[in-house]
Amino acid sequence: MKSLFAVIGTVAILGLVVGLGSARQLTKTSDDPVQIAILSESTWDHFVPLGKEVDAIYGDFVLRNRHLTAVIAQPLATRHANMTVRDIAGAVIDLTVQGSPSDQLAAFYPGKKVFPYRSASARDTEGNEFSLDEPLSSRKTVRLALKADGTDARPEAIVLYELSPADRFLTVITQFTNRGQQPQTVTLEDDFRADGGKEEMTRTPNGSVNHFWLEDHFWGQAYGLDAAGYSLQLTSDQRLTSIKYAAKNGTAEITLQPGDSFQFQRRIYPGTDLVDVHAIAANLNPANSTTLQLAVKNSNQHPIPRALLEFKLGGTTYGTARADGEGKLSVSLPQGELTADIFAFGRQIAANLMVPVNNPSAVLTVDMDPGLIAATITDDRGQLIPCKVEFRPLDHEAKLDFGPETAEFSLRNLVYTAHGKFQRSIPAGQYSVVISHGPEYDAVFTELTVRPGETVPLIAKLTRTVATPGWVSSDFHSHSSPSGDNSSSQLGRVLNLVAEQIEFAPCTEHNRVSTYAPHIDRLGVRSQLATVSGIELTGSPLPLNHQNAFPMKLTPRTQDGGGPVAGPDLESQIERLALHDDRSQKLIQVNHPEMGWMFYDKDGDSQPDNGFERAFPFIDVIEIHPLDRVLTLNPIIESNGKKSPNTLFNWLQLLNQGFRIYGVVNTDSHYNYHGSGWLRNWIQSSTDDPEKIDPIEMVRAAEQGRLVMSNGPYLEVTAQETGKSELCIAGQDLKALTGKVTLKVRVQCPNWLDVDRLLVIVNGRVDATHSYSRANNPDLFRSGVVKFEKTLELELKSDAHLIIATGHSTKNLTAIYGSEAGNAHPAAVTNPIFVDINGDGFQPNKDTLDVPLPTKLVR
Ligand SMILES: [Zn+2]
Repeated sequence: MKSLFAVIGTVAILGLVVGLGSARQLTKTSDDPVQIAILSESTWDHFVPLGKEVDAIYGDFVLRNRHLTAVIAQPLATRHANMTVRDIAGAVIDLTVQGSPSDQLAAFYPGKKVFPYRSASARDTEGNEFSLDEPLSSRKTVRLALKADGTDARPEAIVLYELSPADRFLTVITQFTNRGQQPQTVTLEDDFRADGGKEEMTRTPNGSVNHFWLEDHFWGQAYGLDAAGYSLQLTSDQRLTSIKYAAKNGTAEITLQPGDSFQFQRRIYPGTDLVDVHAIAANLNPANSTTLQLAVKNSNQHPIPRALLEFKLGGTTYGTARADGEGKLSVSLPQGELTADIFAFGRQIAANLMVPVNNPSAVLTVDMDPGLIAATITDDRGQLIPCKVEFRPLDHEAKLDFGPETAEFSLRNLVYTAHGKFQRSIPAGQYSVVISHGPEYDAVFTELTVRPGETVPLIAKLTRTVATPGWVSSDFHSHSSPSGDNSSSQLGRVLNLVAEQIEFAPCTEHNRVSTYAPHIDRLGVRSQLATVSGIELTGSPLPLNHQNAFPMKLTPRTQDGGGPVAGPDLESQIERLALHDDRSQKLIQVNHPEMGWMFYDKDGDSQPDNGFERAFPFIDVIEIHPLDRVLTLNPIIESNGKKSPNTLFNWLQLLNQGFRIYGVVNTDSHYNYHGSGWLRNWIQSSTDDPEKIDPIEMVRAAEQGRLVMSNGPYLEVTAQETGKSELCIAGQDLKALTGKVTLKVRVQCPNWLDVDRLLVIVNGRVDATHSYSRANNPDLFRSGVVKFEKTLELELKSDAHLIIATGHSTKNLTAIYGSEAGNAHPAAVTNPIFVDINGDGFQPNKDTLDVPLPTKLVR
C-alpha cells in the first residue's frame, strides 16, 4: 500500500500543476516518470488533456510523460469519438503537448479500421503485464498493448503504444502474426484524421515523403509522423490522411506464411507548431540547431500580436510558428540561412525578411501598424451587455481576418463579447462598425478611425426598442465540434448565442448528449442564456432521419453522453428517442424534413402512400424554414436554376389534412461566423428572466404551438370571437360559433429591420381582404418601432386554421447577418390558431391548395 500511495501522490501533484497550465515551470529532470491510467471519476481531472477536439471518456487509456499526453480509446466495438469519427477502439484519439495543451487530433487509426482491437493490457518492454486498477508511474518505458485476434483471412495484430520518460514522441509498433493455415497478406497502412475544412490547417501534400506533418495554425497544435526505413505514401482530403508505408523495395504489402510474424514501427508526435514538429523529426538539439527568442514589431516598436511566421531555410519553405499576444516567439531551427514571410490579420506584412541567426533575441521589423480598440458597450440602463461587433474596412481592398469560423471571441471580421467590454488589436485604418444584440435591440452603426499604435475608444449604447413581455427567444438547433461534422468551438457557439440575445438554447450536438452549462458558467452569462442538454439523433437517410430532442439526461464522460444510438430506420429511431430515459417528457422535433417523402411517399415511388406513419404520433414540432417563402407561397422554390419544394407551403397542406404538427425555425448553425441568431422562435413564457426559464415549460409551450417563428420582426397576435373576451394565441383552439373572429395584430422591429407585408392565411390560402402591403395600404404601415398595429375582423364560413405572417418583399438582413444568412427577407410567421365554428372541434378541410400533395423528390 505504501508504494501505491506514493504513486497516487505523484499523480495528484503533477495533475494539479498541469491543471493550472504551468507545467512548463515544473523542474524537468530526466527522472520525470511516464504515467499510465484508465480514465475514471478518480483519475479524470488529473489525466484528461485539454483541447477543442478532446474525445476521451471513462474507460479510455492515458499515456503521458513530461512532453505529451495521448489518449487511446478503449477496445470496444461500440466506441466512437463522434458521429463521423467511428470505430475508434484502440486508436489514439487525443494527442497534445503538455506545455500548451490543445488537442486537435480526431484519431490516429493503426492499421486503418481493418483490425478490431478488443483487448488491452499495460506492459513493460520485457512483456511483464501490470494492473491499471490504479494509475501507474514508471521511470522505465511503458507499453500499452491492444490486440485484434487473427482470422483465416487476416493476421492477428498487436499494437504497442510505447512511451519513455524523455520521449517527445509516441512509438507505435504493430506485430502481425499469421494464426491461420494459409499465407496472409497485410498492407502496412494507417489513417490519420484531423478535420481541417474550415480551419487554418495545412498538411503534407499528397505523394511519397519521409515525414508526414499537419498543422493547425490558429488552434496552435501540429503533428508529425515518421517510420524509419519506410517512405510514406500519402493521400489526403480535408479530414483524412491515408498513409501507406513502402519499404525499400517499394511495396507496402507483407505476405506472412502460417505461423510467421512481422513487426513494424512508427512514431507520432504533437508540437506547438510546425517548427516544433520538425525539430522533433530531425532530433534538433543545441549542438545542431539555432534557438531564437524573436519579437515581431513595426518601426514604431509596436508589437504585432499573434503574427504568423513562415520560415524559409536556404530559400525553401521550412515551417511556420505563431507569435504570442505580445508578438514574441521562441523557436529552434536548423542551422543555415533563414528568412521569414510574416502574416497578421489575414494580410502578408513581410516577405523574405532575413532572420538574424547570430542574435538570439532579434526583433523582426514589419510594415504593419495596428492600433487598439477599447470597447465599452452598454444597454440603455448603463449595464454592460453581450453583443456582436462587425468591423468592415472602408478601404475595400484591405483584408481583415481575426481567425477561422471555428473560433471564439474574434473571428473573420467579428468580435463577440459576453460582457460588452473588450480590447482588440486591429490594423490601422478606417472602419464601418456595426454593433448589434439581436432583433429586440436597435443596432449601432458608426465609423471608426484607428491610428497606428493608438488606443481608440468604441463606446456605444444598445437600446432595447422591441418589447416582448411574456415571450422569450430560442434556437432549438445548434452545433459545434462535438457533433463531429464541424470543428467549431462549443464555447464559441455559446458566445455567439448570447451575443445574439437567444435566451433559451438546448444543446443539440449530433448523436450525443452534451451540455453548454460549463461554457455559460465560464462566460458568466447565466442571467442571459438558459439551456438544457439535448441531442440531434442523426441517421440515414438524409435529410429525413434527423430529430432533435430535449431535455435529454446527460451522463457525462460516457459514450454519446448516455444518448440513444441512431438508426436503423426513421420509425424505430424516433420511437427509441421518445422512449429514452423512461419515456421522459421531451420535445421531439423533425429537422429539415422533405415533407413529401416523410408524410406521403415512404417507398419513394412517387405514388402517394401513408408515409412514415409510425413516426407521426411522436412528432411535436417540425422545421419549416426558409421562412421568407411565406411571402410568395409557391409550392416550388427555384433558386440558381435548382428546384426545391417550399417546406412552408407543404406544411400548410399538411395542416389542411388534419396533422397538428407545429412549425419551428432554427439556424442549425455549424460555424460561429454569424452562425446563430438569424432565425429564432419566440415562445410564450411565464418569465422574461432567462435565469428563471424552466426547460420543461419551454417544451410544453412548443408542444402546444405557443410559438412564433421569425428571422427578426416581432409579431404579436391574439384572437377572440368577436365581442367575447376570451383570448387565444398561436397554437391554441378558439370556439367561435358566430364564425366571427377578431384578430389583434402588431409588428415591432428594431432600427435595422422593416416589413412591408402583413398577411392572414386562412386554411393555407392568403385571405384577399386581409392581405396588406405598404404600397397599397400606406396608412397602415408606419416607421418607428411599431410597424403595423391593427384589429382585423374575419367572418369564417367553416372551421379554419389562421396563420398570420409579416415580412419585407425586397429588403434583407445583410446589415447584421452577413452576406449568406443575411440574404433572407425579414419574415415572421405565427403557428396556427384553430377556429371551430360548429362546436364539434376543429375539422380540417383537406384542401391541397391547387396542387397534389407532395411525394418524394426525384433526384
Ligand atoms: Zn443539425
